[in-house]
Amino acid sequence: MYSSIANKDVAAHLHSYTNLAQSGQVEPLVIVQGDGIHVIDEKGRRFIEGMSGLWCASLGFSHPRLIAAATKAMQTLPYYHTFYHRTNSAVAQLAERLLEVAPVPMGKVFFASSGSEANDSAAKMVWYYHNAIGKPLKKKIIARRNAYHGVTAVAASMGGLASNHNDFDLPIAPRFLHTDCPHHYRYGLAGESEEAFATRLAQVLEEQILAEGPDTVAAFIAEPVMGAGGVIVPPAGYFEKVQAVLRKYDILMIADEVICGFGRTGNMFGSTTFNIQPDILTCAKGLSSAYMPISAVMVSAKVYEAIAANSGRHGTFGHGYTYSGHPVAAAVALEVLKVYEDDNILARCRDLAPRFSGALRSLVERRFVGEARTVGLVGAIELVQDKVSRASFAPDRKAGVKLAQYALEEGLIVRPLGDTIALCPPLIIDAGQIDEMFSRLNRALDRLE
Ligand code: PLP
Repeated sequence: MYSSIANKDVAAHLHSYTNLAQSGQVEPLVIVQGDGIHVIDEKGRRFIEGMSGLWCASLGFSHPRLIAAATKAMQTLPYYHTFYHRTNSAVAQLAERLLEVAPVPMGKVFFASSGSEANDSAAKMVWYYHNAIGKPLKKKIIARRNAYHGVTAVAASMGGLASNHNDFDLPIAPRFLHTDCPHHYRYGLAGESEEAFATRLAQVLEEQILAEGPDTVAAFIAEPVMGAGGVIVPPAGYFEKVQAVLRKYDILMIADEVICGFGRTGNMFGSTTFNIQPDILTCAKGLSSAYMPISAVMVSAKVYEAIAANSGRHGTFGHGYTYSGHPVAAAVALEVLKVYEDDNILARCRDLAPRFSGALRSLVERRFVGEARTVGLVGAIELVQDKVSRASFAPDRKAGVKLAQYALEEGLIVRPLGDTIALCPPLIIDAGQIDEMFSRLNRALDRLE
């Protein structure tokens, strides 16, 4: 017997990212409350949220300052828009603050509500920009296999995961191309060093650009650390080599910092951790610690000037959302950035990272853990059937799903990405809680073995 909430859900709710054919056969997990790094379900079970929800609730699930900021903003100005030169105090201050913390000098900030919208907007800006500078053929965007950039038609086209394409008639042809995924453990050749692997991938990218015609390639988009594609931490030197190629052919670099932004990798942005100099940067999630839906697109002065001039010719920049610069979301984001500063969240993340990575890497001793990958406070283990050959489990073994279920039963929420298990705890986690998280994961692994 399900609870009445669960019954209503099964009857009425078309879920995101769920096997809808199993609706009603799998009991919905009804979360009723958040408390620090924990969430509590309607049966009173308390879980460590080892994924910060969807890589987003960086300050946990009950931060008093964010609740106060949202309440105050809601009481003062619950909504206003930012079309036709309209603005509000929170969004103006947030734009200014984002330019201050940007990893490279940026010109302006555009706001949306989700990571998908931010990436969709970034792609549109890339096209608008190239039309503006008189290069109307330069329109193709290269992304990477296994990338995740969201689910709007354009963002999903940039993504490189089959589940976002299959039967959605994506990617939209012929604007989106995909290049190799920088996962050394899976795609490195026998005996190939990480550096040689990175060099080879940059060469492959260059060959692709030459085959397409450099005058048709507009931008390259990449997550500093690939998230949904399996928490792929790039090999050393990868982005330097890739960007050298991009610069050679005058191709814009878009950093998708939707997961990596705001401290996750130990710096404010993953671009700093991995030496990326983006022309356009998208961010969301940690921007508001997920307390309100808000995302941002930062564009360089060069891109902005061209876009602005073009909008002058058309009489308007014909792009923007009802909720672009939403005052409550912006007020919460502004407060989040203050909390990151007041509570030294970046330093905290850097201090705790060795403990987190030590515990994560020690899991490669376990029978089915082929690889552990981590940076800052994000990481993953990849389960394999055979550690020597690195052979994966047969898909019907559902090793990742099983391990996540065992972890849930042990009081820990993790995310299975195929047979990779991702961990991305709130940045407010403390040392004892990290230890507890890994004891629970170890107990789950005991059950898998
Ligand atoms: N980009 C990255 C790297 C993401 O991880 C995600 C979501 O997980 C998105 C974009 C899409 O964000 P949203 O789900 O807010 O549209």
